[in-house]
Amino acid sequence: MNAPHLVLIVLDTQRRDRLSLYGHTVNTSPALDDYAARATVFTRAIAPAQWTIPAHGSLFTGFYPTAHGFTQAFDVLSETHVTLAELLQLAGYRTAAFCNNPLVGVLDNGLQRGFAEFYNYAGASPNRPRTRPATLLTQAYAAFNRFARAVSNRFAHSAFLFELGLQAWFTPLWTRFANYKGSTARSIADLCAYWETHTQRGDAPLFVYLNLMGTHMPLRPAAATLRRIAPDIAKSRAALRWMAQHNGDGASWISPLRAPLADWQRETVLAHYDASIVEQDAHLARYLALLARTPNTRVIVTADHGEGLGDHNHFGHSFVVHHELVHVPLLVRDEEQFTGGQHTANVSTRRVFHTLLAWAGQPAPASHDADALPLGIDTPAPAFSEAVPPQTLLTLLHKRAPDLVARLALTQTRRAIYDGDYKLLICGEQLEALYNVAQDSTETQDLAPTPDAAAHVRPLAAKLAAFVQAQHAAAAPTTMPATYGEEVLANLRALGYLE
Ligand SMILES: [Zn+2]
Repeated sequence: MNAPHLVLIVLDTQRRDRLSLYGHTVNTSPALDDYAARATVFTRAIAPAQWTIPAHGSLFTGFYPTAHGFTQAFDVLSETHVTLAELLQLAGYRTAAFCNNPLVGVLDNGLQRGFAEFYNYAGASPNRPRTRPATLLTQAYAAFNRFARAVSNRFAHSAFLFELGLQAWFTPLWTRFANYKGSTARSIADLCAYWETHTQRGDAPLFVYLNLMGTHMPLRPAAATLRRIAPDIAKSRAALRWMAQHNGDGASWISPLRAPLADWQRETVLAHYDASIVEQDAHLARYLALLARTPNTRVIVTADHGEGLGDHNHFGHSFVVHHELVHVPLLVRDEEQFTGGQHTANVSTRRVFHTLLAWAGQPAPASHDADALPLGIDTPAPAFSEAVPPQTLLTLLHKRAPDLVARLALTQTRRAIYDGDYKLLICGEQLEALYNVAQDSTETQDLAPTPDAAAHVRPLAAKLAAFVQAQHAAAAPTTMPATYGEEVLANLRALGYLE
């Protein structure tokens, strides 16, 4: 048989527990649920990192964050790691990305390596497949595109511009007019047209990467969707006003909370999140239907990371390795090997890399220490997550909430090991918590202080320490210095961030 078409769908910022696929009581993902009926659904899939940059580094290279070293908005992926798209391109695949996340599609950070075509829907000047020959206008547009991309790169490298972007008055401007979340509808319409054209032509197998940002902040589902999901919240002026304020204040998306949310606030943000899943799922339905009809096609659907919505007193996806950020959805549809049902062992989503390569008949590069995802047989092995704090956010919080930075130890790298039903978290060198995730999936009962804890803590801590040591030994040299330029330092000094 010919090489199969391969598809990787990343639902950016998609929590596992809010999908009806995983038992959420609100019917948020009917199209995905339907598609998953012929797929292996992984119930304990663990993201290697807590936010887009390092998580995509892992999906695209197969390594954990400390090993690939790509953890900051201003980092460039080391050339020592060959990417998934590069390897598939070498194997004869036609590689194309349809991407709504500017951190993946706009920044010049190496994540686009290996994609012969990279379509970006986010930012001031999206880049879509061209359906007509080039004209003077399209050439001028392409030039503007290059300019807009340079401006976006400047934002990633500048803590000053980053902070400006999070000012309450500025957030509504850039999130609406700079098209921060791209366009789910346009990217899927373009992808469906592309898919039909190239699968019919049949000259090369396809590798398609799709990134959807529908569940990333700001959350502004249509009123009708919200009414259907949560009629009480859709009617409550106080709830809608609070959500509009939260949507408009970029700093509140990423800041830890000083006190837990009130119940009504928590219900409000969850309802907006659920409604956003519903809307995205309705768009995705069209492409999933097309995939189901295309023979010899293998598909992975996952999330790069989840989202804190007040859980553990955090918002966003910046500092912690709790379930809401790293326990993600994962479904693998391979008609050839389908044995049905669920896979319940711990697996790291970095193995998406090895799985797609194996499907293409390609071996992973020699330095690799992981295999394709198991379809059918349980192979118990631990999975790990690493949360290196994003420096741009830390700079902001040092100024806005220095007491929280200190109290919550936000400058520390946090790590977690999932082994069997237990999960151990460390913060820097300190033990943070122990959970039985089978009995306590929302991680509310820290078992570390209990009398029987030592029997679990000791072996898990030893495995985690060995993991960290192995990751440092495997660490790639980074190609970009993780420091700011002179101009940015001068800005920071002027603002009183630096002496
Ligand atoms: Zn992301």
